[in-house]
Amino acid sequence: MANILNIANPAELAGTDTKTETLLEIKGLVKQFGERRVLDGIDLQVKRGEVIVVLGPSGCGKSTLLRCLNGLESVQGGSIGYAGKDLTAAGTDWREVRQRIGMVFQSYELFPHMNVIDNILLGPLKVQKRDKREALLQAEGLLERVGLLDRKHAYPRELSGGQKQRIAIVRALCMNPDIMLFDEVTASLDPEMVREVLDVIRGLANQGMTMVIVTHEMGFARSVGDRIVFIDRGRIVETAPPERFFTKPESERAQHFLDIFQ
Ligand code: ADP
Ligand code: MG
Repeated sequence: MANILNIANPAELAGTDTKTETLLEIKGLVKQFGERRVLDGIDLQVKRGEVIVVLGPSGCGKSTLLRCLNGLESVQGGSIGYAGKDLTAAGTDWREVRQRIGMVFQSYELFPHMNVIDNILLGPLKVQKRDKREALLQAEGLLERVGLLDRKHAYPRELSGGQKQRIAIVRALCMNPDIMLFDEVTASLDPEMVREVLDVIRGLANQGMTMVIVTHEMGFARSVGDRIVFIDRGRIVETAPPERFFTKPESERAQHFLDIFQ
């Protein structure tokens, strides 16, 4: 898993140890469902190459936050700065943005009637209008990295949950995104398959991919995250490096959250 990112512009991902360039700048983000305020003024900067792990109790707004970053929810306040633009402004081309900000969900969203390679190539060919040979080469390279090249003609129903999730990750990567969002991608997997999926994400982290990861795998969060962002009731309660968060959380709510898991 040394070079999982067989992408078109790996140079962009090299030398990210400084992590100074802000890729995403979320300011005062507010999301309401009717009267109910689910995100209550989220401020978060994501630097290029940074791995942010979002933790928090069920229902605190983690999925909603990621969905806002992908244009899957309208927002009622604040801004999302990306590539010099505010994505919350009218006229944002979310189809374009989703090529730059890839997302993988808890439930594998593979098309059941398409085999693995067709699932992966759909975006690169139909949306990005790329050359088929070039896209296929990249897709096969990515499949090889996740150990699934031999399954390229399989249909989703023939794959295990862990395999489907690795394919879903490859499919998102094949669009050459700047940022990857992961929303509890191992939550519905049997325990023996969790690791193979987490290893793929860890490989991406090692390659310098910018990521925002929602997970309940605490060991993974601690080892892969550059920063832990702890959310409760729609607000960021605490932001800290993993070591500090897991050993000396500052807030009582984070402490309580960790007590449940440890
Ligand atoms: P988490 O991912 O942290 O478990 P969510 O972001 O899914 O939390 O949900 C945050 C809150 O928003 C929850 O109370 C949830 O019930 C509510 N919520 C999520 N989606 C909707 C929706 N489409 N309509 C109404 N309420 C929603
Ligand atoms: Mg969720």
